[in-house]
Formats: sequence, C-alpha cells, structure tokens
Amino acid sequence: MPHITEFLKPTSVAEALRLLRAQPGRMPLAGGTFLTAHLPKKITGLVDLSGLGLDYIKRRDGAVALGAMTTLAAMAQAAALGPLAALCRDCATQPLRNAITVGGNVMLPLRWSDLPLLLSVLRADFVIHAPRQKTLSADDFFRSVPAKTVGPAGLLTEIVVPDMRRVRLARKKIVRAHDDIPALHVAVALRLERRRACDVRIAFVAQKPLPTRVPAAEALLEGVVPTAALIAAAAAAARAAGAALSDFRFSGAYLNEMLGVHVRRLLTDCVSPSA
Ligand SMILES: Cc1cc2nc3c(=O)[nH]c(=O)nc-3n(C[C@H](O)[C@H](O)[C@H](O)COP(=O)(O)OP(=O)(O)OC[C@H]3O[C@@H](n4cnc5c(N)ncnc54)[C@H](O)[C@@H]3O)c2cc1C
Repeated sequence: MPHITEFLKPTSVAEALRLLRAQPGRMPLAGGTFLTAHLPKKITGLVDLSGLGLDYIKRRDGAVALGAMTTLAAMAQAAALGPLAALCRDCATQPLRNAITVGGNVMLPLRWSDLPLLLSVLRADFVIHAPRQKTLSADDFFRSVPAKTVGPAGLLTEIVVPDMRRVRLARKKIVRAHDDIPALHVAVALRLERRRACDVRIAFVAQKPLPTRVPAAEALLEGVVPTAALIAAAAAAARAAGAALSDFRFSGAYLNEMLGVHVRRLLTDCVSPSA
C-alpha cells in the first residue's frame, strides 16, 4: 500500500468520526480482508477501528447486539446467536473468519458475502453514524450499497438481531465447490407461535449482491399454520420473483427452478418440529 501515508488508531467512536471527517482520503479499516487488496488509489489514510471497543456480542432488551468489529470467528462461537452461529462456522475459512468483521462484511456486500442475506432475513437493525447516529432496518440498510448510504466519513457501529432462541433460520447455496462464488444463495427465517408462522422472511442473492426479499411468498405464510400446500405456494411465488436469474455457470431456468426448490426445502426444515 505505497500510497498510504497515515495509519490512525483512534480509541473511541467519537475520535474515529472526527478523524474521518477531518480530511478526505481517509477510510475505515476493519478486518482488512477486502480493503488491503482493493484499496482505492485516492485513499492515503486508514482509520483502524480495532481500538473502539466494538468487538462484543451482548444480550440486550430481549435482543442480541453485535459490535461492528466482531469477527465471524467470534460469531461462530456465540451461544447467544443460536442458528446464526452455526451458519457462521460455514463461511469462508478459519483464517479468514478470524479477520472478517460483521461490519466489513455488510458495508460492501459482494456476491459471496454471507451476512447481508442472513441479517436481512433476521430483520436486523443497523446503527450508523452518517453523520448523526440513526438506526436503519435491514430493508433500508440494504436498499443500496451501505458504504454509499453511510458515506466515506461515516461509521457502522452496531447490528442488533432478535432473540435467536426463538428464531428458525436456514440457508442454501448453489455452488460448484465449497469456496465457489454462489450462483444463488437463499435464506429463510421465521418464528413459530402456537404452530403459526410469524416474522416470515424469505430472500435470495443471485447476480446482484444485495438481498432480494420475496414479500409475496412471505405473505402466504405469515400468521398461519404452515401446511405443505402453503409452503408449495410460497415456493411458486419465489420462482415467479426469480424469473430473471442468470449466471455463466448455470442456466437461468435451472436457477429459477432451484430457487423454488430451496425455498420449499428451507421452509419445510424451519417448520419441522425437530428444527
Ligand atoms: C479469499 C477470500 C474469500 C472470502 N470468502 C468469503 C465468504 O465465503 N463469505 C463471506 O461472507 N466473506 C468472504 N470473504 C470476505 C469478504 O470478501 C470481505 O473481504 C469481508 O467481508 C470484508 O470484511 P473486513 O472486516 O475484512 O473489512 P475491510 O476489508 O476492512 O473493509 C471493507 C469495507 O468496509 C468498510 N468498513 C468496514 N467496517 C466498517 C464500519 N464499521 N463502518 C464503516 N465502514 C466500514 C471499509 O472502509 C471498506 O470499505 C472472503 C475474502 C477473501 C479474501
């Protein structure tokens, strides 16, 4: 990184924001797994976020708060994250999980980024400072690339997910090998209240890295006992939403069919009594 002339290590969020705003050409550095290989030439200063105390996982007010600098490795070990922890164990490789942070993973979603889709179906909230502190829903946060929404002098500091003890979460990817870029990544989350499905979220990532929700499929199951017929109808609604899928490795028709197949399988897994 020959054009980097400043490496700044603030010890509070307020100081980090001050340093980022003080002059253009500075950028936040989290795990560095993306930034070190793709640093824009106009960036001359890095603001290291590792001293801000943002690496935590805490139960709070019936939810779970994650500091933006929490690594995938820490998430993978966190009992409080329930099924999300299990899915984090399957992301990237152990050396990469030790470095990748939840903040870095969601700020610049790529087609292989695991957390944007999972946090979208979990209806996570995102605390940003851009420049004032505000909380965005997952739908608002992923409406466009979060790094653009937050801006070069802003920060993401916290992500809040619901109480994971009651959430059922599942996902599937279409890949040729474990470390392949997925052609399709589908996820489902819901809760069961007296056998009725609540907070149903169904979404996918295909050729665009931002998650696409399938509200027509979600609405078929929200508040009702999820029967096999309703699950099949939700799968058909998902296929209709994925009509324009394409990828150089698989035909659009195959991906579209598999979107429906995976939605049906994931919903069936999530509502099974043993889930
Ligand atoms: C070989 C390889 C394989 C990978 N495989 C996977 C995979 O299978 N699944 C997966 O999910 N990921 C995978 N990744 C990781 C992914 O591609 C990104 O590199 C990673 O998500 C970036 O996170 P980071 O913490 O390293 O962020 P950095 O590289 O430090 O930063 C990324 C961007 O986010 C900004 N940023 C970071 N944190 C904040 C914040 N708190 N507030 C504001 N801006 C911030 C930075 O300024 C920068 O623009 C892989 C990476 C590599 C190199």
